[in-house]
Amino acid sequence: MNEREHALNAVLLGVGLGVIITPTFDAEMVRNVGMVAIPVVLGALFPDLDTSFGTHRQTFHNLLTLGVFAAFPLVYGNLHYVWIGVLTHFTLDLLGNVRGLAFFYPYSEEYDVPVGVTTSSRWALPVTLVVTAFELGVAVVVVHLPELVPAVPPLSV
Ligand SMILES: [Zn+2]
Repeated sequence: MNEREHALNAVLLGVGLGVIITPTFDAEMVRNVGMVAIPVVLGALFPDLDTSFGTHRQTFHNLLTLGVFAAFPLVYGNLHYVWIGVLTHFTLDLLGNVRGLAFFYPYSEEYDVPVGVTTSSRWALPVTLVVTAFELGVAVVVVHLPELVPAVPPLSV
């Protein structure tokens, strides 16, 4: 996908994640939307830097890049949520576009799933919105799963 689609996806996800985390529609929710949305947008824009540095869909579209951003907060205590932007960028590229990603870079084989459209397709924006809705649905399940699954009753003898 192009930068426009990635930016739209990231803004919708960042705002959506903030609301999903804190669905209170008050000042705390607004604070959390900012806390999540800005790092997610930054993370979503990072992988396509390989259009200028390295090889596009390879140099920063891989598991090492995701791992660095996932580990960074654990080591340095900042850049929380940036990895979510990187992961959702990969998801949008995989599900929304016909070209794959070199997950195991520097091994250059690109992997993809057989869905998606070209970046120049008139369907790129609608597909982006569908993938974004899917990602937000996954986020709802991940964040609220403990509330959605009834507790297993204790065994009685
Ligand atoms: Zn990309």
